[in-house]
Amino acid sequence: MEPKQAKESLEKFSTPYSHQIYKDAVNIASEALNKTIPKKPLNGKCYECGWRLNEIDSYCSNCGQKIRWDVNHD
Ligand SMILES: [Zn+2]
Repeated sequence: MEPKQAKESLEKFSTPYSHQIYKDAVNIASEALNKTIPKKPLNGKCYECGWRLNEIDSYCSNCGQKIRWDVNHD
């Protein structure tokens, strides 16, 4: 399963009626999954945390976000 699909299925479990602990677990899991989905840097900086990246980096060394230099955001 692709991280993006995994995230979408996870988020279906988080409804306004879900238990708070369940929502927290979904949030933590989806945040972790988020970092495995490659994101294009903004102006050479990490999309998530603003860390200055080198063009050879495939991961942000500050927050662990996966980086793709040639991918566009939805
Ligand atoms: Zn980062």
